[in-house]
Amino acid sequence: MADAEVLLSLRKIVKGFGSQKVLSEFSLDIFDGEFFTILGPSGCGKTTVLRLIAGFEQADSGQILLDDADIAAVAAEHRPVNTVFQSYALFPHMSVAENVGFGLRMAAVTKAEIKQRVAEALAVVKLSGFESRKPHQLSGGQKQRVAIARAIVMKPKVLLLDESLSALDHKLRQQMQMELKQIQRKLGITFVYVTHDQEEALSMSDRVLVMNHGQPQQIGSPREIYEAPRNMFVADFIGEINVFDGVVEAENDELSYTVNIGGVKKVAGAEFRLEVGDEVHVLLRPEDLRIEYIEDQPKDEQGFLGKVLERSYTGKTIDTLIALENGNTLRASEFFNEDDPDFDYSINQRVWVSWIDGWEHVIKAGPL
Ligand code: ATP
Repeated sequence: MADAEVLLSLRKIVKGFGSQKVLSEFSLDIFDGEFFTILGPSGCGKTTVLRLIAGFEQADSGQILLDDADIAAVAAEHRPVNTVFQSYALFPHMSVAENVGFGLRMAAVTKAEIKQRVAEALAVVKLSGFESRKPHQLSGGQKQRVAIARAIVMKPKVLLLDESLSALDHKLRQQMQMELKQIQRKLGITFVYVTHDQEEALSMSDRVLVMNHGQPQQIGSPREIYEAPRNMFVADFIGEINVFDGVVEAENDELSYTVNIGGVKKVAGAEFRLEVGDEVHVLLRPEDLRIEYIEDQPKDEQGFLGKVLERSYTGKTIDTLIALENGNTLRASEFFNEDDPDFDYSINQRVWVSWIDGWEHVIKAGPL
């Protein structure tokens, strides 16, 4: 989104509840037309950010700009922003069409236009034909679609979605993730989605903000966040990670270093300059680790000795828990291939573990 324009800008927002400070000088730019996700653990302040954008909360200080105009004084109902809540918040006594058309009726739109826009919105969420049903006659997934239709029918500039899929079962959630992405692309509305589910964040978003304790930790594409986490919090929060503690022993080339990990020397690339003697974490995702039988270990490569603690079959992959001789426990994940004899490791079998140079990601140890 190199040439994207900023639509929504939060500048140095401070927000507390009583003596508890939730956001302190929180700043964020969201681009026009992007699917933006705020990801973080429970209580980190995600919903507060969303409620400030919606106008349900007022900041103690700071600015919220939409199209460069400060919207602090604009009441929630007059902001070009709609929210889809986790609870759907449908009116139980109204039909699907009445629920979806509610906001338009409040805005005194003509009956004919309401009818047309409701039909369009229901078509987008694949609920054409459901106009006269009542909420209690719908499944959870269908209720969620009505809630989305009710928001998009208003043609907001920004659609806020608060944990909107979390009430759905796993399969339906995955299906709705794809559909939400399609709806967003089709309508070109800026979506700001809040979740604590990393898989959801990675699969739907153009960009993700990872937050902790009210502080932005990293902002980037799903790939950047997963493959190049900036700190241990992001690395750990976004899926499984193996951590090797090491010390930079030599600089080989520009941004290429020899890292000594408890006597095992690995060549690792870094995205920033390191000094000899720096303590680092070398991070490897489970799918980036290689396991070999001890007798098959490559002679010209350095690696780690360990033994298999546990094996589990997930359908797509075989996951192996390995106890290294240095005390570290690793998780490796390999695509399942039943014809490959390497998939026969037994519990307690001794194995050799390593990775292909360049597949690691290095961050500095210690506080940021
Ligand atoms: P979750 O994923 O559990 O919804 P969250 O990251 O969305 O969490 P927030 O709902 O933004 O977190 O809450 C951040 C902090 O602010 C929490 O400690 C919460 O208890 C507190 N908080 C939020 N709203 C209020 C309120 N209206 N009054 C008092 N405290 C509040």
